[in-house]
Amino acid sequence: MKLILLGAPGAGKGTQADILSRMLSIPTISTGNILRAAVKNGTPVGLKAKEYMDRGALVPDEVIIGIIAERLQQPDCAEGYILDGVPRTIPQAEAMAANGIAIDTALSIEIDDETIIQRMSGRRTCPNCGASFHVASNPPKQEGICDACGSELVVRKDDAPETVKARLETYHRETEPLKAYYEKQGKLKTVANQPTIEETTAAIRKTLGI
Ligand code: AMP
Repeated sequence: MKLILLGAPGAGKGTQADILSRMLSIPTISTGNILRAAVKNGTPVGLKAKEYMDRGALVPDEVIIGIIAERLQQPDCAEGYILDGVPRTIPQAEAMAANGIAIDTALSIEIDDETIIQRMSGRRTCPNCGASFHVASNPPKQEGICDACGSELVVRKDDAPETVKARLETYHRETEPLKAYYEKQGKLKTVANQPTIEETTAAIRKTLGI
C-alpha cells in the first residue's frame, strides 16, 4: 500500500497515519516531523526550513524532494508507505513521479476551516518524538506529558491562530489542487472528517477496503 494522505493542516492526517501505519505495518513518512527534527538539531536543512515554517509558509520544493527521495530509499519502505504532508504542491507531486515514487491512492480527509481553527487551539505536540495529542479529543494519559517518550508537550509555534489562518490559505492555494491532479489519474478517494478519531479511522478503512 502506497498511500498519500491529503487534507488541511489539522485535518488529522498525522493521527490517522499513525493508526494506519500500525495496522498495515508500514512506515509513515511525515515531512513536517522530519523538518521539525532538522530544525531542532540545527542541520543545514533545518536552518533553511525554520523561517518558512514559523510563518506558516511552505518550505521550497527542492528541499522537500531531496528529503523524501532519500527517506523512501530506506529498506523499511520496500513494502509500502504512508505519506503525511507530502506532496504539498503540484511540482512536488510531479517531481515524485519523475523520481519513480509510486502511489496507489491519494486519500483526502475533508474538513471545514472553522472546525480546523477550533481544533488546532487544543493541539499539543511532543518536541522530542513528534507524537500529537489533543486536550479534548485525544488527551495524553498524564496531562502535558508525551505517552510515547515522557517529554513535556508543547503548543507548536505554527499552531498559533494567525499562523493557522496563513497555513489554511496556503493549503487552499497550493495543496488542494492536488485533489484534481490525483482525480485525473483515478487515484483520489475522499472521506469526510467524523466527530471522533475512531469514526474517522472506520470511514477511512471502509473507503480503502482494509
Ligand atoms: P505539517 O506538520 O505537515 O503541518 O508541516 C509543518 C510545516 O512544515 C508546514 O507548515 C511547512 O512549513 C513545512 N512542510 C511540511 N511538509 C511540507 C511539504 N511537503 N512541502 C513544503 N513544506 C512542508
